[in-house]
Amino acid sequence: MRLDKYLTSSTELTRTLAKRELKAGQVTCDGVVIKDPSFKVPQQAQVSWRGQTLGLIGTRYLMLHKPAEFLCSNVDELYPSVLNLIELPKREDLRIAGRLDADTTGLVLLSEDGTWCHNITSPRRECSKRYRTWLAEPLVADAEARLAEGIELHGDGLTRPAQLERISETEVLLTIHEGKYHQVKRMFAALGNRVVGLHREAVGPVELDELLAPGEWRELTAQEIAAFR
Ligand code: URA
Repeated sequence: MRLDKYLTSSTELTRTLAKRELKAGQVTCDGVVIKDPSFKVPQQAQVSWRGQTLGLIGTRYLMLHKPAEFLCSNVDELYPSVLNLIELPKREDLRIAGRLDADTTGLVLLSEDGTWCHNITSPRRECSKRYRTWLAEPLVADAEARLAEGIELHGDGLTRPAQLERISETEVLLTIHEGKYHQVKRMFAALGNRVVGLHREAVGPVELDELLAPGEWRELTAQEIAAFR
């Protein structure tokens, strides 16, 4: 890798600033000052900038406990982006694998690995998502059967069979296998109800870590990453 690219990949420096730092003699490779931006960094070389040893940022795989009033968007809009919660360099490179509404809480997976994110969100993969759902009204008696048959969503056709587990008259776990716009809210609206609270507990076999408070994140384990390969 070129030295200027190495610098921009391992620090917050832009290409212009990286070149300036190189020209100013602030960058060493194995202890030798290098000023040439096109210098090819050898595989095991130790690169330092202003005396600080740098390391390349590898592909990151994270889970976040999304709080309400944060957006699953890469930019701040009405609410701040969830990326504000992740204090890592180059956090803007992270992709959000499956969005939640601003008022929905729970498990959000993120990575720079586009293929991995696609494996989670692609409708063809039918990746499951389990939502703890709080309802305004007691749920109708035939909800299980209707959700299993599929619910007709205006403009989006029939939903795939979904599984319902009742916790109480107004609290349920719903597992769906796609991710249409406002899907869970629209499915319960079609059953004459209204979602008053929504929390994603699991995506595929990956469960939201109970140790994560809202707003906290952690790296995924090798096993969790492998679940979406
Ligand atoms: N379904 C919804 O209606 N909202 C979400 O945030 C996720 C699934």
